[in-house]
Amino acid sequence: MWVLAEDRIAGLMTPEAAFDAVENVFAAMTTGKARNFPVIREALGHQDALYGFKGGFDAAGMALGLKAGGYWPHNHESGLINHQSTIFLFDPDTGRIKAAVGGNLLTALRTAAASAVSIRHLAPKGASVLGMIGAGHQSAFQMRAAARIGGFQRVIGWNHDPAMLPRLAETAAEIGLPFEAVDLDRLGAEADVIISITSAFEPLLLDHHVQGPTHIAAMGTDTKGKQELDPALLARARVFTDEVAQSASIGEAQHAVAAGLIAAGDITPIGDVITGAHEGRGGAEVTIFDGTGVGLQDLAVAAAALDLARQQNIAVQVEI
Ligand code: NAD
Repeated sequence: MWVLAEDRIAGLMTPEAAFDAVENVFAAMTTGKARNFPVIREALGHQDALYGFKGGFDAAGMALGLKAGGYWPHNHESGLINHQSTIFLFDPDTGRIKAAVGGNLLTALRTAAASAVSIRHLAPKGASVLGMIGAGHQSAFQMRAAARIGGFQRVIGWNHDPAMLPRLAETAAEIGLPFEAVDLDRLGAEADVIISITSAFEPLLLDHHVQGPTHIAAMGTDTKGKQELDPALLARARVFTDEVAQSASIGEAQHAVAAGLIAAGDITPIGDVITGAHEGRGGAEVTIFDGTGVGLQDLAVAAAALDLARQQNIAVQVEI
């Protein structure tokens, strides 16, 4: 089997490669060629950790496997990041293990790629202002991947804790865009594309904040109870997602669905837009991408990283 260590991923896996891998697997999911397996996520009762598995099989990309990992809230005390994961790939023809790939950076890249894919396919024409809600670890990846999609002339941002805003300013400077911290009224009125990436448990962006044609990539909500958007926004938007079942149960749409404002059947897989089966934005003023995060995204970026590593002779082969 191949081993691709976490510290080899940076400099190997590009945002471009992550974008292509995620766009392809979203398309494969919608045509029934790829499916996610039920997610397992358990509180360990040890170190306050959450641990689980996200797996699937993509018969188009021939990727079979799972991501194992979770969240260890005390890791930072020993200098480790709190999210820890490893992706395991298996040979779909034989079931033999093919690779173990460090999953921490890849998780950040695949999450950023998902919002970027949604921006490519759903942003209003001529979008020039990017609004960021959230300034944590993941926010920098989201901003960089969105900026690649192009057209943005400035970035505005808001965070619950203003002390974290310098991260957004530094990331914008790195990609050569001006940045301004704003309140949510200005963010919703001025941004053409909004990315929310927080751990909030209550709506931050309210219906009245959002003015004019806007695309919102809601990326933070991946668990029951989390919430970033006013359910009324989902009621008036066209809602898209990576996987409808997850969107309605653990994604941003869970609240609008529970309140009876929308039904799971009103949510469109983004893969339908990628393949051309759905028109996407059409005449809608507001579009929302509910990015819940699926195991197939992890397998897709791990397989792409492994291909690059093998081409560059930096993957290690071991016998087990
Ligand atoms: P982080 O801990 O580095 O940052 C958390 C962010 O949320 C910060 O901006 C913080 O100020 C904000 N926040 C925390 N509590 C809040 C509250 N009550 N109200 C408003 N804002 C609050 O985390 P991160 O790595 O940047 O990840 C952000 C979120 O994205 C996490 O909740 C994570 O689970 C989620 N995530 C989702 C996916 C996906 O595929 N959808 C993938 C990775 C991470």
